[in-house]
Amino acid sequence: MKKRLEKMDVKEKTVVVRFDYNVPIVNNEIIDDTKIITSLDTIHYLLKNNCKIVILSHLGKIQKEEDKKNNSLAIVAAKLKNLLNQEVYFSHNLLDPELLERIKIMIPKDIILLENTRFLDIPNKLESNCDIQTSSFLASLGEVFVMDAFASAHRAHASTVGITKFLPSCIGFSVERELSALNKFLMSPKRPFTVIMGGAKVEDKLELIEAMLLKCDHLLLAGGLANSFLKALNFNIGASLATKNAKTIEKLKNILLNNRDKISLPLDAIVGSSYDKTYTRYKKINEITDNEIIYDIGVKTIEKYKSIILKSETIFLNGTMGVYEDYRYSNGTKEILQILKESQKIVVAGGGDSVSSVKHFGFNDAFTYLSCGGGATLEYLIHGHLIGIDSIMEEENIEILDV
Ligand code: ADP
Ligand code: MG
Repeated sequence: MKKRLEKMDVKEKTVVVRFDYNVPIVNNEIIDDTKIITSLDTIHYLLKNNCKIVILSHLGKIQKEEDKKNNSLAIVAAKLKNLLNQEVYFSHNLLDPELLERIKIMIPKDIILLENTRFLDIPNKLESNCDIQTSSFLASLGEVFVMDAFASAHRAHASTVGITKFLPSCIGFSVERELSALNKFLMSPKRPFTVIMGGAKVEDKLELIEAMLLKCDHLLLAGGLANSFLKALNFNIGASLATKNAKTIEKLKNILLNNRDKISLPLDAIVGSSYDKTYTRYKKINEITDNEIIYDIGVKTIEKYKSIILKSETIFLNGTMGVYEDYRYSNGTKEILQILKESQKIVVAGGGDSVSSVKHFGFNDAFTYLSCGGGATLEYLIHGHLIGIDSIMEEENIEILDV
């Protein structure tokens, strides 16, 4: 495990913390504050230790000057103030020497949130390219650095990695919780271990499929992923979403050949049509016609996957079984979540849309662990480490945190 906050001397120090406050905002309102709530353990610990707290985060994609307008972290400062019931200062400036003076006159337990670090990307990508002077300036704002942005831990930016070159650094409580849970449940899973993968594009998931096949006993496929595998087996999948890349198809054939006993594919589907938006039909997988589009898995598939789930000890879910955003094609995703909920097994989900779909249907409590790291969760499962925390020292001989 990486050096943990509890092992760091932070008493009465000025601590720079990197959180992931990349929250969804609609009409000037934060519609899901999970990421802010997740940061509170670390903040409370630092407050208890009489620290001055300097918070860094990014928000949204900043590719051009106009993107700054809708991506200010000021809204998060206001939310944090409500949650903590104390003042949270906000600085519009990031690289301004005056900031040093402002922090110097803060008193213990004062908190300041700085503006979106990705604003530094205009025009010279100072944040994303891990600019050394920017990293050094951010480090000069405190005496210790805490990396607690798990969902940003697959990026080597100035505010995640560059800063660690200049300050004693450790991971915060939410990064520790994520790493502990993923290690405990998925890196050495209780077997039989079943992975359920759905979602849209197979190319985005090929590495994860290959990594999971090395670890799991069963891989149950759905969505666009399954479509591509069915295509590789020469099924007619009509106008369904699937890879068109010949090399990918060749790869999928090989994966199927080498993992015959592990991989399960849908037996039936709920389909739509490419020329009639109101058309929906139940079809067996070998009955699909040229204009039909597979949007969800059918009952026979659900039954088959259920029997494998119930024979497993650990299940990992990534992606959705169908286009769950459309109620006509949400049944497969909902049913599989219900089965997982009732299974009493170790059930873990990870991935951006996967977690959104769980929340969408209100199945949060079905899971032993819901990994909120999005791309970072998947990167960790594929590679077993994350570039955004690699530079933090390892801590030896520590007991495993119970999650
Ligand atoms: P994650 O973000 O958790 O890794 P994905 O993005 O891979 O998950 O999967 C979720 C997306 O996959 C959803 O937007 C859903 O609509 C889409 N999807 C699922 N099944 C299909 C399908 N049969 N055809 C097209 N899109 C699909
Ligand atoms: Mg996604």
